[in-house]
Amino acid sequence: MNFMNDTIAAISTPTGLGAISIVRLSGDNAIEAVMEHFKGTDLNQVPTHTINYGHICDADEVIDEVMVTIMRAPKTYTKEDIVEINCHGGPYVTQKVLSTILGSKVRMAEPGEFTKRAFLNGRIDLTEAEAVMDLINSKTTLQENAAVEMVDGAFSRMIKDLREQMIQVIANAEVNIDYPEYDEEELTRQKMQKTTESVLNQLQEVIDYSEHGQVLKSGIKTAIIGAPNVGKSSLLNMLYRGNRAIVTSIPGTTRDTLEEEITIGQLVLDLIDTAGIHHTDDLIEKLGIEKSHQMITRADLVLLVLDGSRQLSAEEVQLINDTKDKQRIVIINKTDLPQKIDLSQTNLAQEEILKISALNGIGFKELKEQIESMFLAGIENSNGEVLLANARQLGLLNKTQEALQSVLTGLADDVPLDLVLIDFNEAWKSLGEIIGENAPDELVNELFSRFCLGK
Ligand code: GDP
Ligand code: ZN
Repeated sequence: MNFMNDTIAAISTPTGLGAISIVRLSGDNAIEAVMEHFKGTDLNQVPTHTINYGHICDADEVIDEVMVTIMRAPKTYTKEDIVEINCHGGPYVTQKVLSTILGSKVRMAEPGEFTKRAFLNGRIDLTEAEAVMDLINSKTTLQENAAVEMVDGAFSRMIKDLREQMIQVIANAEVNIDYPEYDEEELTRQKMQKTTESVLNQLQEVIDYSEHGQVLKSGIKTAIIGAPNVGKSSLLNMLYRGNRAIVTSIPGTTRDTLEEEITIGQLVLDLIDTAGIHHTDDLIEKLGIEKSHQMITRADLVLLVLDGSRQLSAEEVQLINDTKDKQRIVIINKTDLPQKIDLSQTNLAQEEILKISALNGIGFKELKEQIESMFLAGIENSNGEVLLANARQLGLLNKTQEALQSVLTGLADDVPLDLVLIDFNEAWKSLGEIIGENAPDELVNELFSRFCLGK
């Protein structure tokens, strides 16, 4: 029995008290192994992709009443025979169904092994497999949408399309190198240059919105800064109130840092150092101007809070100035009170300013929209898809880009075609690695080991 065809099984629904849980098997022995413990129709005889009623038994003992889905290779998730046993008896019974099925013909699946088989059997490529994992781990609808589009293969279609353009140039160049007497080298060089430039452009687009998108995956590091009593805590409370839930509250590295995540619309804000805001009312006084500078440096987004009922202090003018190169929103709070603030001495643009009353929850919707327009713009491609390359894919995109840059340099410097072709081939290979072509075993193993059991 070879490795690929041994039969694996796992519970593939989340643990907990769901109404139905599924034990999934994949491999040559899947049907036979279930049949040994199944009382009902002869599963060897039923057509593929059918659901069959019966009981799972251990010798004479009935363990659970089940519905068994039979899916024969190759039109299945793994391209192998798959059996899914829908159990009704709760977690304990499901566990018992699984242990009854496991035996000489079936072993326990490793984490991610079903998806790994789908990949190794050519059913999905590496970007799609990675997206399955992202989907399992996604926290917001945006992440979910991005993952769905990756699972759906939009990203790998784009990569494959770029490679298709490139392979034609490679074929041409190889003919020219093998038969120099054809003397069409100049044409090939031109074609190579055109293709390289066009691929580079498209790569740059993906790289740009993926880098932009990393922020969305990991959370937008957000600093709420401002003088004492302007309403930072009140703003924080407004953000909490306006939202479904605080996702996590994790102790930071030092005693007095606390990083909190909140979901705002489609985005996750990772609030930097809210300890100062929660526990004292004098962030700047207590922690010092130095501290707020550290926060500004680390932040992807600065929410600078000012009190509309007071005049600007010199420190606040300084803060406005210090944050001018950041993605920021200058929030004028306490707009319910008579207004004394005068911003004419600053160079603030109208669209950077947002008026709110944190105490009364006024302006939350506008704040949310402004943050969304700052961070969601530019992550959709021309087809309206959100394709976020992960760190591994980005690394390879950058590598491809470098190789293509040297192709352009080579062509400009009249380097012989066979040498330029080396770089061009290199670029073609890196793009292939993104979708898992010639992916080294260690990479594949490492990747799938991060999956959860049963996927
Ligand atoms: P922080 O020191 O910047 O965190 O400011 P706080 O959120 O603790 O608010 C300072 C004071 O301003 C408190 O008494 C709040 O009730 C009050 N405050 C905050 N937001 C508003 C607002 O929108 N309108 C009014 N009238 N008072 C506010
Ligand atoms: Zn406060």
